[in-house]
Amino acid sequence: MKILKFGGTSVGSIKGIKKLKLIVEREKEDHQALFVVCSSFAGTTNALLEAAEKAWHQLDFHEILEEIEHRHYEIIREILPISAQNSLLMLVKSNFNMLEDLLSSVAHLGELSDRAKSKIIALGEQLSCPIITAYFNTFLQAEFKDARDLIVTNSNYLKAEVDFEITNQNIQQWAKDLAPKVYIITGFIAADLQHTTTTLGRGGSDYTAAIFGASLNASEIQIWTDVNGFMTADPRRVKNAYSLEYLSYEEAMELSYFGAKVIYPPSLVPVVAKKIPISIRNTFDPEHVGTKIYTHRKVQDKALITGISSVDKVALVNIVGGGMVGLKGFSARLFSTLSRANINIILITQASSEHSISLGISNEDSAKVQQVLREEFQVEIEAKKLHPPQVLYDLSIVAIVGERMKNTKGISGKLFSTLGKHHINVAAIAQGSSELNISAVISEKDLSKALNVIHDAFLLSPIKTYHIFCVGTGNIGREFLRQIHQESKNLIEKHKIEIKVVGIANTRKMLLSQEEVPIDTFTWEEMLANEGILADLQSFIQSVKNYALPNSVFIDNTSSKKVVGYYEDLFGNNISVVTCNKISNSENYAQYLQLKHLAEKHSVNFLYETNVGAGLPIIKTLNDLLISGDEILKIEAILSGTISYIFNNYTGDTTFAEVVRKAQELGFTEPDPRDDLNGLDFSRKMLILARENAWNIELSQVEIKNFLPEACLNAHSVEDFYAQLEIYESYFAAYKNKAAQENKKLRLIGILENYQIKVEVRMVDSDHAFYNLSGSDNIISFTTTRYKDTPLVVKGPGAGAAVTAAGVFADLVRVTAL
Ligand code: ADP
Ligand code: ASP
Ligand code: MG
Repeated sequence: MKILKFGGTSVGSIKGIKKLKLIVEREKEDHQALFVVCSSFAGTTNALLEAAEKAWHQLDFHEILEEIEHRHYEIIREILPISAQNSLLMLVKSNFNMLEDLLSSVAHLGELSDRAKSKIIALGEQLSCPIITAYFNTFLQAEFKDARDLIVTNSNYLKAEVDFEITNQNIQQWAKDLAPKVYIITGFIAADLQHTTTTLGRGGSDYTAAIFGASLNASEIQIWTDVNGFMTADPRRVKNAYSLEYLSYEEAMELSYFGAKVIYPPSLVPVVAKKIPISIRNTFDPEHVGTKIYTHRKVQDKALITGISSVDKVALVNIVGGGMVGLKGFSARLFSTLSRANINIILITQASSEHSISLGISNEDSAKVQQVLREEFQVEIEAKKLHPPQVLYDLSIVAIVGERMKNTKGISGKLFSTLGKHHINVAAIAQGSSELNISAVISEKDLSKALNVIHDAFLLSPIKTYHIFCVGTGNIGREFLRQIHQESKNLIEKHKIEIKVVGIANTRKMLLSQEEVPIDTFTWEEMLANEGILADLQSFIQSVKNYALPNSVFIDNTSSKKVVGYYEDLFGNNISVVTCNKISNSENYAQYLQLKHLAEKHSVNFLYETNVGAGLPIIKTLNDLLISGDEILKIEAILSGTISYIFNNYTGDTTFAEVVRKAQELGFTEPDPRDDLNGLDFSRKMLILARENAWNIELSQVEIKNFLPEACLNAHSVEDFYAQLEIYESYFAAYKNKAAQENKKLRLIGILENYQIKVEVRMVDSDHAFYNLSGSDNIISFTTTRYKDTPLVVKGPGAGAAVTAAGVFADLVRVTAL
């Protein structure tokens, strides 16, 4: 059997109330009663309280009263059929008439007792619950229950203490033979033995749910509110707060005691002994799992602390004086005085010298505290053994809470150094004896900053955010940004990865985001054109460094040597590089080593999977083989998707030049197609593989057996190159025809063996593993000590903007984030 509790935030609007239907229908078990505790409509208790205070101060309370009354009418009219409205409209009317009389007497007498106050604020639940019951009755069988008939308390009207013995009996008796309907119970309100209305303290509807839950041995108590569960901090104050899936009772207790409003702290007391799980759920997102509060936390998360909470409007009372030293019974006198005066002490710290005690109390209580302490310690104060109590106002308490804080050293050090670093002064500190929390008293004006910096220091969001700077907006660069745009929602939701594009540059223009607003990946082209400034690589790099954003990644989607020249500088500034630019790894060996070295030294990533075979896992496979102790005996590969495409399509009547042109149009070729056809691009890939295999080798050592005529190789421009290809068509046709006659296929193959790399055109017959290769496919076969008889083969599309950009994308999300 379950208890559901809907808070004011859930039943504060028509939209919210309508959400209840789905939730209640889903949670209702067949043949069982379902207990639903509801608060007043959001804001009602506050408004009633304000009206009462106004009446007390002889101010006009009618306006505020009318406003609440009308909200109730409005809700009734919106959610109920006309036939069901009348009795409720009357109920609201008569109660507001009664309230008006009551407030008039308060104004008249100029007196507002706690008893009257409690009666006034208890009205919210007495109205909301019958209205919700009527709404439920439009789709199931529901019955209203006034908790004042069942929950018995003492006469501390505004924060009444429950008499559990009588209350439990009453509840059990009532629930014994109930029909399997939905029972809507008023939260927050109760009655004393004289049947006078009492209230359980602000936020007390949670407590009502817990009282019923414990009494009826519920299997679960669900607290439905307006956030996705208990979060690491108040989401209204900490922008990076996130939901916690599990919390222990103790953690929930500490966090709520120190201000996390999600649950009213006393609510946990009755349920802990019975080990009844509480879940915190979001009425506006019922599919979200929310938070489960139970005896222990199920998952061990990485963060040292579980959450942060805060109490504001705090005053610190300092009691200082030599008279306290060794004075027996001093603390007892102090605390019993405060207890008699009904003062809630939020925090206590005592200096080890015993010279001073500081008490955190609410601002409101400070005058009273000063007065009762002066009275109690009058003799000591006059004898100058104690100073008169001093009070510091407008403070806040921040508390960090977590089970894992026990036995972990350095947490308070980290807390205070974090506050210190941000120039936040600490007026007092306290650690709970359970070691479950550490609290610091700070100035109220620093609260928001403190919460955010502490959150960032201890509770890194599970969302990994990458700040990326992209250079190159050609085929690959553009496609890369398109993929980021397309995948962004999915990445956040499913993989907890957020990619923020901070800078984009090409050879003409560059654009840098301002004030933390990332560049829109949908409109970037337009923005770059309209708002971009003249490109200047040097100053772009300087900005990347100046922004100094966490998890900065520089994405090089160019084939420019100039860009590679900045990698060292980037690594030195702790910026990772992801690149499809082969130049960096295929120029001289010393540079290749140096870059790897630097990246390692600065603990950043340097990822270039797309240097070989676009998005195919070739470098990764090679490295995996090597790391696991395998030895490369031979690599054979077709690594030019362009040439594969050209050879595979150079059939029939199309000229060789036309096929090359088509390949360029499709984005398969390097920006300059000569780099593909002269075997250079392929050679660079083979060279990179050799170097990954720890060969100290240079590009000049790669033996390229060229198949292009000299005139084509020496063409001085791309257009001239195409012209030469046309001229030599018969030369290419001869190759084509020969291969066709022998039933063979033309393939440009790279072979890496015995410290030698060769790249050459071969005609392969149908027995060869490379014979059946279509489109722009790449194939690579690793013959190793382990994969000797049957080589390990990786095959698939190895060229084109889409697969290359996807490879760059995959590398980006492999960057180790903080
Ligand atoms: P209800 O009306 O449902 O009882 P409350 O306003 O009492 O709702 O409590 C929910 C609010 O508590 C949230 O809207 C949120 O702003 C606030 N809150 C404070 N601290 C936290 C926290 N750590 N996690 C979630 N919410 C918090
Ligand atoms: N309506 C009461 C309040 O505002 C009780 C509650 O919402 O839990 O304090
Ligand atoms: Mg609440």
